[in-house]
Amino acid sequence: MFEIFNKGFTLIEMLLVLAILSILISIVVIFSVDYIEKTEEEVCELNRRQLVNKYQSYLMLEGTEHSESTLKQYLQENVIDGCPINGKIDYTNKEIQCSVHTIINDDVENEEGVPIL
Ligand SMILES: [Zn+2]
Repeated sequence: MFEIFNKGFTLIEMLLVLAILSILISIVVIFSVDYIEKTEEEVCELNRRQLVNKYQSYLMLEGTEHSESTLKQYLQENVIDGCPINGKIDYTNKEIQCSVHTIINDDVENEEGVPIL
């Protein structure tokens, strides 16, 4: 009667538990990486939108019109939160774009860049 309770786990039972745990851990890691990448992309886009808002305020305060040289001068003079993974923030095709997160597609209008009016 007492031998049943002192038996413990067999090697196969332990291996089965380890296999199940490793499968669960790999699923969690895969979802975490996707979540982190999506969050970085959203932060990058929000930073670019905030940059456009600050730049428009700057234009109103200075009483000047938007031009490419004015924007480049503004970007040089002001420290701005950019891409969380250090993508290069640049002004091309009348939009603020990130070298990592902006998908450039010639056929379809770009939805990732933040336009400047
Ligand atoms: Zn970015």
